[in-house]
Amino acid sequence: MTHILHRQIHHDYPVAVGGDGVTVIDSKGRRYIDASGGAAVSCLGHQHPAVLAAMHAELDRLAYAHSSFFTTRPAEELADELAAHAPGDLHHVYFVSGGSEGIETALKMARQYFVERGEPQRRRFVARQQSYHGNTLGALSVGGNAWRKAPFEPMLIENHHIEPCYAYRHQRPDEGSEAYGLRAADALDTKLQELGPETVIAFVAETVVGATLGAVPPAPGYFRRIREICDRHGVLLILDEVMCGMGRTGTLHACEQEGVAPDIMVIAKGLGGGYAPLGAVLASDRIFDAFSQGSDFQHGHTYIGHPLACAAGLAVQRVIERDGLLANVAARGTTLERRLRERFGNHHHVGDIRGRGLFQGIELVADRSAKAPFDSRLKVHARIKSEAMQRGLMVYPMGGTVDGRAGDHVLLAPPFIVDDGTVDIIVDRLGDAVDAAIGSIAI
Ligand code: PLP
Repeated sequence: MTHILHRQIHHDYPVAVGGDGVTVIDSKGRRYIDASGGAAVSCLGHQHPAVLAAMHAELDRLAYAHSSFFTTRPAEELADELAAHAPGDLHHVYFVSGGSEGIETALKMARQYFVERGEPQRRRFVARQQSYHGNTLGALSVGGNAWRKAPFEPMLIENHHIEPCYAYRHQRPDEGSEAYGLRAADALDTKLQELGPETVIAFVAETVVGATLGAVPPAPGYFRRIREICDRHGVLLILDEVMCGMGRTGTLHACEQEGVAPDIMVIAKGLGGGYAPLGAVLASDRIFDAFSQGSDFQHGHTYIGHPLACAAGLAVQRVIERDGLLANVAARGTTLERRLRERFGNHHHVGDIRGRGLFQGIELVADRSAKAPFDSRLKVHARIKSEAMQRGLMVYPMGGTVDGRAGDHVLLAPPFIVDDGTVDIIVDRLGDAVDAAIGSIAI
């Protein structure tokens, strides 16, 4: 009998007791290849010696100092590092302890920016269906994941959504990728006109959609058009790179590949690589200037800028640079995509394979030509997860891919240290798990 209120009460979780590179080890000595980095977190794998050494050293110096009294060296150095590599003029860093806290911070930061500028009538956010921005109430409100929101609907703040940029399901047969990207982006303009653009604070989007769609990159030109629309209406662009950022797609920030910089960007997960709960909100010069010339940002949490977490994040980022791991993400990402196409390209129940770098997804379908999803009651995604775990493989499947209810996908996000041999094993085990899961249901 456990006293933890687990995510799934009627599920027996193995006890994780150790880690070794890309592998997690349980109390029975079973080894699992971490092909999803947990939830796209463990970018350096487990027990990386350089990160552990940096954390031990910081622990011996200073475990904690409250940010209303002190700043600390690890926090200052990590902020310098992030500002030095930031897109655009995102030179100002607000540390938090995770993704949801980061999104809440970004929403409040954007709102106060307009209060400081004398535009208090801006009170609305526009985001996208089939997105996930976190589970706290503000983040849940801007998120577009129907099943996660449903029980809490009456408590959510006003929210407005446009369709996602999701070529597999929304690009018309007679439409090129660029034309689709522009059409999908223009939905923002229509929505702003409908709401009155002067009432809108920001547009919030994941650069590459993670948990809800399964590694769906934007169509070409989509974000450039989004940036233009935001600028035309004086609306801020907030990019959520909690999952897709910090190297996962092969560049430090996913938006680099889109040729745009947001006004505010949220990062987490890979920033600390799972070694400590850590996230950050990066703000542009004009956001900073509004606070600097007006009032301080009215926000704060007990653990912001936690020195041990920042020391972990700094060490993770330095290892990525020192070992040239972004190049490995790009190279191993190409292998992973190729292997997925070889294994699933002609699979009757895989409709789409997509992604970028070491952030790849497959979408499951009952009928490939009609793109028809499986009956959601079959919980195909959960079956795949369980079959994969039995084969010593961690992947990140999710249901509700099509509309928040129907549809299944599997997300892969292996650590940046993965090699080609391990990629082969991942795809082989995933192929067996998918076949076993689908074989277990009567079609
Ligand atoms: N934003 C995105 C894109 C995410 O994928 C997640 C978590 O999966 C979050 C926000 C929320 O982050 P956290 O779980 O650290 O609160």
